[in-house]
Amino acid sequence: MTDPTIEALASRKAEHLPGDYIQDGLLHCGACHSRKETWVELFGRRRKVACLCRCQSEKVRRQLEEMEARQRIEALERKRAAAVQDPAYRKWTFEGDDGANPRVMEALRRYCQKWPEMKKQNLGLYLYGGVGTGKTFAAACVANELTRQGVPVLMTSLVRMANALGWGEERAVFLRSLNAYDLLVLDDLGAQRGSDAMKEAVYQIVDSRYASGKPILVTTNLTWEQFCSPREEGDRRIYDRIREMTVAIQMGGPSRRHRLHEEKQSVAREMLWQK
Ligand SMILES: [Zn+2]
Repeated sequence: MTDPTIEALASRKAEHLPGDYIQDGLLHCGACHSRKETWVELFGRRRKVACLCRCQSEKVRRQLEEMEARQRIEALERKRAAAVQDPAYRKWTFEGDDGANPRVMEALRRYCQKWPEMKKQNLGLYLYGGVGTGKTFAAACVANELTRQGVPVLMTSLVRMANALGWGEERAVFLRSLNAYDLLVLDDLGAQRGSDAMKEAVYQIVDSRYASGKPILVTTNLTWEQFCSPREEGDRRIYDRIREMTVAIQMGGPSRRHRLHEEKQSVAREMLWQK
């Protein structure tokens, strides 16, 4: 009785390369001087079959390793694609930082390094500053770094998310699904101009996050005054919530001290600004 698959494998001939030689009746590799053939007992018969010499098996091992490394990179790219919704932001990492905001970027690196503690303290960040100060870049660096560490992160524009909320039960399910992310990065607070429905949606996103006890990272063009003293009530309750959940960091300007929730302020000072 023979198995056709095994028979096919056993009949495969060792590749005879220049320099290879026969010793003790078996083909040997001219390069590594180990066997390219071996004796096996197959279906009751002693057979000479091909095997991998040392350098061939080393080559196969390297190819497998390279394939695995490629697969790991591809898996990371897929994760990053799922985590950071705007493809342009996925390439933004601390390594690509131009050094324009060294103090802030160092604090954000520390935020990522100390993530388990930040998460435990439910310490979020509020990055504010004018157009072109690098807020979104900085936020994407944090999102990408934590994603690399295996942390479930979602980064999206706040307006885009508010528009995707749906209504009724659909909205409730969507908001609950956000709890799966350990960090929610909400880009561009304050762009939710106009309608009460939009403001309500933004409030619900922030408030459900508050209820989940998990951190948010918010970026905004709002000035500190606009954030603290909004003219409309619909904005006020959103901003009040965010103030409770985050530590404010000003981008691209002289550092300022704000009156924050005292406990968060001291935790933040200790964790982000001191080595
Ligand atoms: Zn060899």
